[in-house]
Amino acid sequence: MARILNGKEFAARMKENAAQGVRALRTCGVHPRLAVIIVGNDPASEVYVRNKQKTCEELGILSDHIALPEETTCAELLACIDELNADEEVHGILVQLPLPAALAAREEEVLSRIDPRKDVDGFHPVNVGHLFIGVPGLRPCTPAGCVRMLEYADITIEGANAVIIGRSNIVGKPMAHLLLERHATVTLCHSRTKNLAEIVRTADILVAAVGRPRFVTADMVKPGVTVIDVGINRIAPKQLVGDVDFDAVSKVAGAITPVPGGVGLLTVAMLMENVVQAAKVQTEERGGR
Ligand code: NAD
Repeated sequence: MARILNGKEFAARMKENAAQGVRALRTCGVHPRLAVIIVGNDPASEVYVRNKQKTCEELGILSDHIALPEETTCAELLACIDELNADEEVHGILVQLPLPAALAAREEEVLSRIDPRKDVDGFHPVNVGHLFIGVPGLRPCTPAGCVRMLEYADITIEGANAVIIGRSNIVGKPMAHLLLERHATVTLCHSRTKNLAEIVRTADILVAAVGRPRFVTADMVKPGVTVIDVGINRIAPKQLVGDVDFDAVSKVAGAITPVPGGVGLLTVAMLMENVVQAAKVQTEERGGR
């Protein structure tokens, strides 16, 4: 039976780092603050946003919840971002995705409007570029949280064959760069990959970010592999499953994250670290305050 990589345990360590950062900033008179913009009323997004706010409260980070109506125009949303960019009391800005259908086509423009120093989701092209060339900066929370977990769990990344299934901008692609930066040999698979199972079987570290319930089966993995299941799939009103067939794969793998109770918790914890990091950098730039 595989070692279960308990998201709660690793997230607690990350949250403690963030809380320490908050305390240090507060002694200099700085109170880290996150502004979350949510457009429309997607129920899943509302749950995610509430979670983020609750964690902010827990760690002493101020959080503003800006709820805009479904019919908000792109110009109005951009104006809201501009205002937050200009507000020195706000250190982190996050636009909850997905945007409503009418704005979805302009997502890139919206994300690019956020001041890169306040882009705590790490989706701004400047931060994406920094990740690509290995310059320090704000990293996307889900993959950065997963990599931090691997480090805390003493799972060797250097020299490992890392296989990622899924090439999205928010998970797969940044994950590839983060693992490459730590000297893994990385293979990025997607919907057009040929011989997927054969490639997946070479993995020492496997990251599944597909969005298909129980897509990775036991016959696809090498004994001893470390499996990170990013997928969140609702298969019944109260049942969430990952992209990995947990029951079967956990009998073959060396270590595995559960769903729920795995990567989701790391994502929120990493966001908190990003807010603290953003607040530190902005404070330093202003000469201490
Ligand atoms: P996405 O839909 O943007 O990307 C899915 C990727 O899977 C695509 O790159 C596609 O090429 C690949 N894919 C689809 N079918 C495939 C197939 N048959 N074979 C190989 N590859 C295939 O999804 P995303 O935003 O990256 O999210 C992926 C999953 O992770 C979803 O379930 C999402 O809910 C979850 N997610 C979880 C967190 C978290 O905090 N735990 C954060 C973000 C996303």
